[in-house]
Amino acid sequence: MTATHVDGVLVVGDEPTVTPMKTNSGKKTVVWEQTRTLRLEDGRTVYGCQHCDYTSPNQYSVRPHLMKHNRRRPHSAHVPSAANMTLANLLETATQIDKLTTDMEAWKARALDAEDKLRALRAQTR
Ligand SMILES: [Zn+2]
Repeated sequence: MTATHVDGVLVVGDEPTVTPMKTNSGKKTVVWEQTRTLRLEDGRTVYGCQHCDYTSPNQYSVRPHLMKHNRRRPHSAHVPSAANMTLANLLETATQIDKLTTDMEAWKARALDAEDKLRALRAQTR
């Protein structure tokens, strides 16, 4: 479960983390549900893991941390098995996977495009 205290200070706000990235359409901001933006009682903001009490002052530290949950506990409690899911849950999950796949393909295309541009730039500077 997400941390309720950080260094003994009460967490008073827990929201998904809004990133500087945009979705494929460029209209919506990408939000990381599993990286929690935690507002503390003393006014500080830290970033926490949705699945345990891990926190960090750096939002980008939470992403690699999340991998631990996937590697160590592939069938952990927070990932319900298909047998326990309702059809609505399954459809929602399938939609999420579809969206992630689309995102991944878009990022891959951008990376390849960037590589091409970099290659072209390097060719120009020779
Ligand atoms: Zn965690």
